[in-house]
Amino acid sequence: MSVKISIVKTFSSAHFLIGHEKCGRIHGHNWKVKVIVEGELEEHGWVIDFTILKNITDELLNKFDHKMLLPNSINYKDDGGNLNFTANSKKYSFPKEDCVIVPIGNVTCENLAYLLHNELKEILKNFKNIRGLEVMVNERDEQGAAFSGW
Ligand SMILES: [Zn+2]
Repeated sequence: MSVKISIVKTFSSAHFLIGHEKCGRIHGHNWKVKVIVEGELEEHGWVIDFTILKNITDELLNKFDHKMLLPNSINYKDDGGNLNFTANSKKYSFPKEDCVIVPIGNVTCENLAYLLHNELKEILKNFKNIRGLEVMVNERDEQGAAFSGW
């Protein structure tokens, strides 16, 4: 019997979008990440222990929490303590320790969902009963993006 289970985890971070007038200004979200895992029930009657799935997800999200999320499509000048760069024709300088350069071209819900899906899939492949994964990233309650596949 194949069943879908889900958990929700959150993190808070700042970002801006490249190529968008309003969202090109720095702002923050309390991002909500929903992870849906599909699989055969194992001997105890669950797909995966909720606590294990939450811990795996937390570990992936912790690196983003209370950070400035930056895309990898920008040329950064690292002066030792700060990242200096130009984006949307504006000059920025942020303390390096407050930033994460995320391996996506623009920090959108869509790209974050795709990235987190890939990262989670790598780990969940070790659970032989799992056969489906969907990751939904919401930047607000009423808007978000999902990526699914296995
Ligand atoms: Zn935003």
